[in-house]
Amino acid sequence: MESNVRVRFAPSPTGPLHIGGVRTALYNYLFAKKNNGTFVLRIEDTDQTRYVANAEKYIVDALNWCNIPFDEGPGKNEKFGPYRQSERKELYKKYADTLLKTGWAYYAFDSSDDLTNYRKEHEAEGKTFVYNWQNRADGSLVNSLVLSDEEVQAKINAGENYVIRFKTPQNEILKLEDEIRGNITIDTNTLDDKILFKGDGMPTYHLANIVDDHLMEISHVIRGEEWLPSMPLHVLLYKAFKWDAPKFAHLPLILKPVGKGKLSKRDGDKLGFPVFPLEYTNDVTGDISNGYREDGYFSDAFINMLAFLGWNPGTEQELFSLEELTNSFDLKRVSKSGAKFSPDKTKWFNQQYMQSKDNNALTDLFLPILKEKGIDKDKNFALKVVTSIKERAVFVKDFWELSSFFFETPTTFDAKASKKNWKETTTPLMQELVTKINSIANFTSENTEKEIKEWITNKEIGFGKVMQPLRLSLVGALKGPHLFDIIEMIGKEETIKRIENAIQKLS
Ligand code: GLU
Repeated sequence: MESNVRVRFAPSPTGPLHIGGVRTALYNYLFAKKNNGTFVLRIEDTDQTRYVANAEKYIVDALNWCNIPFDEGPGKNEKFGPYRQSERKELYKKYADTLLKTGWAYYAFDSSDDLTNYRKEHEAEGKTFVYNWQNRADGSLVNSLVLSDEEVQAKINAGENYVIRFKTPQNEILKLEDEIRGNITIDTNTLDDKILFKGDGMPTYHLANIVDDHLMEISHVIRGEEWLPSMPLHVLLYKAFKWDAPKFAHLPLILKPVGKGKLSKRDGDKLGFPVFPLEYTNDVTGDISNGYREDGYFSDAFINMLAFLGWNPGTEQELFSLEELTNSFDLKRVSKSGAKFSPDKTKWFNQQYMQSKDNNALTDLFLPILKEKGIDKDKNFALKVVTSIKERAVFVKDFWELSSFFFETPTTFDAKASKKNWKETTTPLMQELVTKINSIANFTSENTEKEIKEWITNKEIGFGKVMQPLRLSLVGALKGPHLFDIIEMIGKEETIKRIENAIQKLS
């Protein structure tokens, strides 16, 4: 076990949390819990242009629904708070200044137009453009100015737009270590001098992220693969500040179910599955994106599925409670290559979890659906129905479709099945069956089965000749659980009523 583990989930509140983000949160949570550590939520909202007001609440609600709440974060155990970067704004300038003083950063005054032109000119000459010592002159790239401190100050005082850039060291081979990917070597000559701080007084992601990870005593940075290209800069920043760097682990991408590339919202729209944990309404466009919760997934099934997108326990076992996941989770067993998302497998997980859910609790979820349909049956009856159909259900919302015949006389009959199974001879046979059923005193599943089967045997006809039309009469189709269980549940009067109804409609 690792000691003093502190990990963080650091989303930017730019919209709803994609399932890739939930998986990052989950792996952080599992790693923290496995090592008796702390799981921190930090909101990285320094980019005000992309800020979405309801996104933070969405993130918190999603973590709570998934049952992976944070230990420290906005409004909770604020030991290292505040946990929103916008509320820490004043703090970052000091760190940018430190880097300016120690020569690890410099002011730059290039406009983005100038930069674009410069890049184009460069590329037209067939050279690759890297914004570092190969092209930089302190102060301004374009004009190759080297400015004195006084000149810099004069420009700032005159209201010129500036940024503070990191001064990437020259000709160094960086040796990086990733908990999942192993050793990585990077030539610093390929790295751009990234912007750390902007003229509007806001730090960029890179500076704020490193400063906060340090101040919040983060021991392991576990995040998506898309942040791997930032790792060299981050490691260099730790070096520049003379701070110990945390360990890094970059998680594999979640891939489309079909084709190549990263799973996107468009894939979900196309194939009809959600890419968000909870439903989300875009407060600008009013567009609604569906969520796993609203689509009827159990959060524990959803989490189990997500855990397996990039990790496996090394055994055949697939069903893991959150506690079992916590005990088994190991960064060493996270794969380097992307994990293909499977909507079918996700449903499979839900169906598996359905089987282990308490029937009483499932019935409580079913009762409001029945009420909405105007059906007034007691809980005991509904409980028996749920017990007999849940094996076939993926979602609670499937219950009605799978069981409506327990509550209602069928009004339609499957046309193909009727044609095949309701012959001319069926009507008199079913009329006789009504008489037989009328005579059965003990109307349990077992006894009706015994008596009706004896009756068929005595008539020396095939079972199918009676059983198929009987099922059609009671269910309206050739589906459903054990027929005699249905008979017992709906009772003698209703059984006879349904057979007579079918005789009338199908003869
Ligand atoms: N704010 C970044 C994001 O939106 C955090 C990346 C990191 O974990 O360092 O994913």
